[in-house]
Amino acid sequence: MSQARRRNDRALLAWLALALALGLILTYSVSAWARPGGGHSYSGGSSRSTRSSGGHSGGGDGGDAAGLIFQLLLLCVQYPALGVPLLIIVIVFFIAKAAVGAGRKGWSTSTPEEVQAVQRVERSAPLARSELDAIRTLDPGFSLVLFEDFAYMLYAAVQRARGIGTQALAAYLAPNLAQALVDPQLSDVQGIVIGAMRYVHFSGPQGQMLELELEVESNYVEVLRAGGSRRFYAVDRMRLTRAATARSRPLARAHKLDCPNCGAPLEAVRGTECSYCRQNVGFGRFDWMIAELSNQTRETRGPLLTSDVAETGTELPTIVDRGAPQKFAELERKDPAVTWQALQGRVGLIFAELQAAWSGREPMRIRPFVSDNLFQSMYYWIDLYTQARCRNVTENATIRRVDLANVLSDAYFDAISLRVFASSIDYTISDEGKLLSGNRSRPRTYSEYWTLIRGTARRGEPRRDNSCPNCGAPLRIGMTGQCEYCRVKITSGDFDWVLSRIEQDEAYGG
Ligand SMILES: [Zn+2]
Ligand SMILES: [Zn+2]
Repeated sequence: MSQARRRNDRALLAWLALALALGLILTYSVSAWARPGGGHSYSGGSSRSTRSSGGHSGGGDGGDAAGLIFQLLLLCVQYPALGVPLLIIVIVFFIAKAAVGAGRKGWSTSTPEEVQAVQRVERSAPLARSELDAIRTLDPGFSLVLFEDFAYMLYAAVQRARGIGTQALAAYLAPNLAQALVDPQLSDVQGIVIGAMRYVHFSGPQGQMLELELEVESNYVEVLRAGGSRRFYAVDRMRLTRAATARSRPLARAHKLDCPNCGAPLEAVRGTECSYCRQNVGFGRFDWMIAELSNQTRETRGPLLTSDVAETGTELPTIVDRGAPQKFAELERKDPAVTWQALQGRVGLIFAELQAAWSGREPMRIRPFVSDNLFQSMYYWIDLYTQARCRNVTENATIRRVDLANVLSDAYFDAISLRVFASSIDYTISDEGKLLSGNRSRPRTYSEYWTLIRGTARRGEPRRDNSCPNCGAPLRIGMTGQCEYCRVKITSGDFDWVLSRIEQDEAYGG
């Protein structure tokens, strides 16, 4: 009886030890991804793009590993039958983990050791942009760059329509949605700024309808009929559908909402019937239609400008598209002036101007180098700092390494995605000079994915100086991206590489 109980106790102890050891392994493998500060959403300030908003501690991993080994050795002495096999499992786990990191070749600019340790592997993303690129097999005029501009525009229009009515947008909305979206309490929705957009689901180019689900982080101001207004920080899901037979609109019409078929102004479309082309232009027949719009979360809390939010994901391997090095080589063949080194020069210039614009609260400094959507988002953030009478200062900002992540080319644009590792001193001070958050002496390391775009027809070396890529005059440009001298819009990518997207490690899907 007592022997049986002892055996039971032993079995229980063994199970406990096993659970403990597995727990330790899990803790170790998870700790690499955990963000101590938590809550990193648009509302929390993650979209601030020039900086890391906190340090990820490099020391924790070593401590965890030592603790784990000690526990295991103890287990080996006390219960060798259990401890030894577990020790072997753990050793195999670490060797495998190290092998994954060491065994891959990357495409990067080399740099100091501290970031060299970061692995470069091809890991499968939730939904890579390359998958969407498959739409070009049906529709050769499809451009991801233009599509994303369109999706931003449509999202902003539908948000606004909740207040001012959906009649004008009927061609772009599922019939049931047109009714359901309108909020009778609202007279308008204004100040819509999109912080990030992610792809959640894509049905692929099979079947009669293409279906695509996007997650959009935004903020906007609802203007109430009863008077007053309220600002929201929201995450929405937007499901778009389009007939597989539809073809993308030409470049000239890419940045306006009009009749999805003939381009007549939206006023000409009554219901889903266009009075110009006499077609029923709804139901995704000619262009993307919003089939569903649902709110995931929204809150009225303002952005936390002065909190210390820990950086996360810097230690994750770079998501490299399998075809990226080859596609970069193709790009280089097409235009030998676009070398990896020349591109680094351009990235370096944009990086430096970004720090200056951000720290100095001078958004116009970055205007020549970023797309309209990215500028709008940055302008919004810098304005928030100005209103809060504080500034986020990044000093001694240095790029430590740049990895190639992806290259996508379509009929209109070449797009290069890079992972930029950088470090800088990073703190926030009030206009009176009081330190509000961050550290004035200890630099922080972080990484972000940058996507640069340029028109496919353009050739020539990426510029590293502050002059107009069209007329050569010193860069002075307006809000809309036009050179003050030659009046040409230089931020569309028609002239040189411009930054169109900044994504944090945890948000980048490929
Ligand atoms: Zn029409
Ligand atoms: Zn010019």
